[in-house]
Amino acid sequence: MIPSKPFKQVCKKCGYSKIIVPESDVFPFATDWTPKCPKCKGGLERKKLNFMDQIFIPVISLKNSFKK
Ligand SMILES: [Zn+2]
Repeated sequence: MIPSKPFKQVCKKCGYSKIIVPESDVFPFATDWTPKCPKCKGGLERKKLNFMDQIFIPVISLKNSFKK
């Protein structure tokens, strides 16, 4: 089984981007994953995180754990 890794959704049209952190390896699809851009309804591209993005992963994970 491939462990799920955080990734980034980027809109090619308006530049909207969101970092998605899958909640666990059991549920590899993050609950806040979205197939379309919430701003312009354009298609989103899945990208690897760069160094700056990776800094925010602990913050996002923390937010997710507060929701429970
Ligand atoms: Zn967009």
